[in-house]
Parts: sequence; structure tokens; C-alpha cells
Amino acid sequence: MKVLVINCGSSSLKYQLIETKEDRLMAKGLVERIGIEGSVITHETIGKDKVKTEENMKDHKDAIKHVVTHLTDGKTGAIASMDEIEAVGHRVVHGGEKFSESVLINDEVLKTIEECSDLAPLHNPPNITGIKAAMEMMPGVPMVAVFDTSFHQTMPESSYIYALPYEYYEKYKVRRYGFHGTSHRYIAERAADFLRVDKDKLNVISCHLGNGGSLCAIENGKSVDTSMGFTPLEGLVMGTRCGDIDPAIVTYIMEKENLSLADINNVMNKKSGYLGISGVSSDSRDIEEAAEKGNKRAQLALDVFAKRVKKYIGAYYAEMGRVDAIVFTAGIGENSKTTRKDIINGLECFGVKLDEELNNTGKGERVISTEDSKIKVLVIPTNEELMIARDTNEIVNG
Ligand code: AMP
Repeated sequence: MKVLVINCGSSSLKYQLIETKEDRLMAKGLVERIGIEGSVITHETIGKDKVKTEENMKDHKDAIKHVVTHLTDGKTGAIASMDEIEAVGHRVVHGGEKFSESVLINDEVLKTIEECSDLAPLHNPPNITGIKAAMEMMPGVPMVAVFDTSFHQTMPESSYIYALPYEYYEKYKVRRYGFHGTSHRYIAERAADFLRVDKDKLNVISCHLGNGGSLCAIENGKSVDTSMGFTPLEGLVMGTRCGDIDPAIVTYIMEKENLSLADINNVMNKKSGYLGISGVSSDSRDIEEAAEKGNKRAQLALDVFAKRVKKYIGAYYAEMGRVDAIVFTAGIGENSKTTRKDIINGLECFGVKLDEELNNTGKGERVISTEDSKIKVLVIPTNEELMIARDTNEIVNG
């Protein structure tokens, strides 16, 4: 089945066309500056030239129209007509407690996703806009919603309840939801395949380390804990997000710096993390380069990052009692050998031994621990779009 996977942001739209029969990527692209002057679409059909065109796109429906035009272009396209798109899979950030699995979108589902917008006011509205635009452009084509939160709905209460007055959970649904669920689910499945064991018997610590990052404790194939929380701000040190801090710092800094709620939110989400500590950049490549040249704050940012990940690995080991594999994924996890080394070094007490040569070389899915390491360490490139396409295929074809 040919599935169009759509990931809509407020002014951007990422897409992939995937043939699910062979898990084959046919085309991919990115639309930027939707509704802003200078909209641009970058399209690539696999095996053909990449094209980048500036075209005016006033809204998401316009953007999807252009996506379809590029997909069906005689020279640079991947399909002959829009009718070849058999289903659309949408990434939706927040499914609240309502969605523990991906679902076929109908009016009622759409309404429920809208209700979840309160929990993700920056993310769900553009996702909904994308769904509505695609429905208008492709009436009659089945659409499926795949949620970042749903994989974590298996967490026990003891993992998701915060030690706040319980009525905040009852009244406002304040609890840990977790994110990157589609990526962590993919990692759990691929790790089981790679190690040739039953997914339902495998305990994995999945380390999704990208611009945003989270760890997930996966016990017998199910998420039992994760580092992101009520929002994607909790947990690890990220590109510009602070992750875990003492909550009392918030009011203290607000008072000292005379900051409004919006200001402090901006500081914690956009000015902290790698960028905040290093003062150099939010991008780990720039920070590694600066650290190599002797920049102390850049080195400190890397050290704080690695220590935080290590702490979570220790915590999740203790929580599950047995870990079969630690898996690194996403931009930093897949590419930064020094970060992986800094994280794993010191975990020998758990029986984890990194093979330096394997860590420094190789590409794609691979083992980077020694033969006698009790816990395997793997690198597995994530593929959230493929997971969305697979879910869409499964749901549409029953
Ligand atoms: P993502 O959000 O998964 O796209 O990951 C983005 C992060 O991955 C950024 O911090 C990048 O600097 C980092 N990254 C990508 N490639 C590399 C690389 N070759 N070495 C180190 N970090 C990388």
C-alpha cells in the first residue's frame, strides 16, 4: 500500500511516500514557511534529482496541493496520479489518555484530538490543520493518526503520577505522558529483530538523543517509564531545553529577573540546554568542535548531558531489574561516538562494556559493545515515518 506520511508543524510540513509492501521509501520532502512570504518546498523522489522551489503557499491545504503536484510530476515525481495514494498517516503529538494506539480518523476522533490540544497547545493545532487540509484535498482517502504519546500509555501509575495534590491529575490531567513514543516503539521492535528474540521478552533502555531527547524503559516490549513528562521539557538536557531542574528555580529567577510566565517558558524551552550552558550553540556538532578547541563551557555542556543520560540509565536499570540492551538513536545517538562513549563509560559496574573500535566505526544498525558485555549496546537509526506508514497500513487493511 502507498501511504503518504505527514508531519505538520505550525509553518512547516514534512512528508514521505512509503510503499509498505517492501517498507520502501519512494519520495520525501519538506515544506517551509507556510503562510509566510518566501514559502519553499524541497522534494526528492528516491533515485531522482532533488528539487527546491519557492512557491507561494498561503496555508496547509495549499502546501499539500504542492506536495501532490511534486509527487505526481512527470519528471521528478514518484507516482502518476494522486489516486495512487491509498492512505495518509498523520503524526499527532498528543493523544492524552484517550489514545493508547493509532486510530482511523473520523469526526469523533478529530474532536477528541482537538480536546487534547489543551495539553499541547503548540503542537496539536498544526497537526489538526494538516489532517483537515489533507481530508479536503483527498476526500475518501482513509487517514490514520499516530500519536507520540500512545506507546507510553502502558506506564504504571507509579511512573506517571507527580507528587502534587492528586486533584490536579483529576481536574487537569497533570501527569507524565512521555513523547517520542513512535521512535521508542520502533527501537523496541528493531532491537528484538536484531537480537533475534521475542519483543515481548526483551528489556531495553532506548536512548533517543536528538535536538529533543528522551529515554524510555521498555520492559517486555512495553514502556514502563520515560524521561519526558507532562510536556517535552522534562528529563534530559536538550538542544535548547533545560530538562530536569529544581522547580523552585522557576519562581526564584522570575522574581530576580522580573520575568513573565511567557518569558520564563521561553528561557526554559529556547535558551537553556546545550545552548544555555555552552553559550555556543544548540547543535552538538558545534559544541563538540568548540570543546575540542578548549572551550570549557562547551565541555561542561557535554559533561552535564552525558551525566544526565547516565543517571537515567541507572534509574531504569534499577526500575526494571534486568536490561538486555541499551540502544542509541536519533541525531546525536546515531552519530556522536564521543557522546556515546561518555555515557557508557562508568557503566562497567552494570556489566556494560563498550568496544571502542566498534563505537568509532560502522554505520546503520550495529552492536558497539564487546562480546562479553552482559548488556548489549546497539545503535539503531530511528524511523518514525516507517512506523506511521506501517500502522496506517495495518489499520486501513484491518
Ligand atoms: P535530530 O533531532 O534527531 O535531527 O538530531 C539533531 C542533533 O543531532 C543535533 O544536535 C546535531 O548536532 C546532532 N548530530 C547530527 N549529526 C551529528 C554528527 N555527525 N555528530 C554529532 N552530532 C550530530
